[in-house]
Amino acid sequence: MSEETPRGPHIDTLCIHGGQHHEPVTGAVMPPVFQTSTYAQEWPAKHTGYEYARTHNPTREALERCVATLEGGTHGVAFGSGLAATNALLQTLPGRAHVVCGDDVYGGTFRLFTKVFEKHGMTFSFVDFTAMAIEEAIPERTALVWLETPTNPLLKVFDIAAVAARCKAIGAKLAVDNTFATPIFQRPLALGADVVLHSTTKYMNGHSDVIGGIALTADEAIHTALRFTQNAAGAVPGPWDAWLTLRGVKTLALRMARHQENAKQVVAWLAAQADVSRVYYPMHAADPGYAIASRQMSGFGGMISFDLEGSLQRAETFCASTKVFTCAESLGGVESLLELPATMTHASVPAEQRRARGLADGLIRLSVGIEDPGDLIADLDQAMTASKA
Ligand SMILES: *Cc1c(COP(=O)(O)O)cnc(C)c1O
Repeated sequence: MSEETPRGPHIDTLCIHGGQHHEPVTGAVMPPVFQTSTYAQEWPAKHTGYEYARTHNPTREALERCVATLEGGTHGVAFGSGLAATNALLQTLPGRAHVVCGDDVYGGTFRLFTKVFEKHGMTFSFVDFTAMAIEEAIPERTALVWLETPTNPLLKVFDIAAVAARCKAIGAKLAVDNTFATPIFQRPLALGADVVLHSTTKYMNGHSDVIGGIALTADEAIHTALRFTQNAAGAVPGPWDAWLTLRGVKTLALRMARHQENAKQVVAWLAAQADVSRVYYPMHAADPGYAIASRQMSGFGGMISFDLEGSLQRAETFCASTKVFTCAESLGGVESLLELPATMTHASVPAEQRRARGLADGLIRLSVGIEDPGDLIADLDQAMTASKA
């Protein structure tokens, strides 16, 4: 008889079935959209467990259970946006907590930390974990480390297990924003993180039609605190958004495989361009993040950044010239997007600070979709020619 512990379902299966069961009344295969704000009680205070929809909604709970299984967590707590999820996590901390955060973090996260939570007495340090000793980067008084890896837009890779070990040693919690990699390619809880967050707006939902966020954990105390904040502060997603996101998650594994396949072809094309001075893609052997990425990630999605030689105006012309790639903020949808961080997503970072961070004016960020890769490359090729004129 085999002593092996039974193997759990593969993540491709969990995308479709994780935490799901058929609706008990009708057997509906897909959980219905429970579009209700309240639930009938047969006797005052005698109810089904569902009293009020800020606190409980079955559609939202189906999404929470599903994504929790993907990240290897026991609980998911869904929110109305990625930033609402981040906000809720920070609200679980004590008032004067110190938070250490990567220096190349999502702009909205930086704004929330520095413009909202600093005002209420929390302190933040923004560090490059690749450029200093980890004990120095994370002092003993730290309550939470916020790790975004790979980062946006430079796609820097930080060592999750190394940061987790330091956090364990000093009793700090580690939160990882896993929006870019998704659990298909990176599972931070298995590497020692305490909580994982997503902007489900991006790859999780994947169709550019919902704003949403979620936090996943296997830590009961973190779950209880997040669940309390979800209900107490109330930034819950509506049932339609939860349903659409759950529907999107079903194809996550398929989509990520195709995003990655297409991105590899685009990276190869970019690397051969005379006017591209640098390509940022951690699963490319020339990238400085390659060693850590290949250790902690099993693949990479469709995010690529590159430095285009020449003026800011040239980069603007490039972005305005594509026909298959749409010039727009956001990422992770089935359609290809491109953007210019200097004037779009990162325009709020002062110019000197942008340059100090290595964010050049000619840096272009691509979110490679799942279209035909030949069409994508032909589109970039004609934009390259157009931008030279
Ligand atoms: C978009 C994004 C967020 C914020 O999510 P919203 O859903 O827009 O609130 C946070 N982190 C990363 C990495 C993102 O890309």
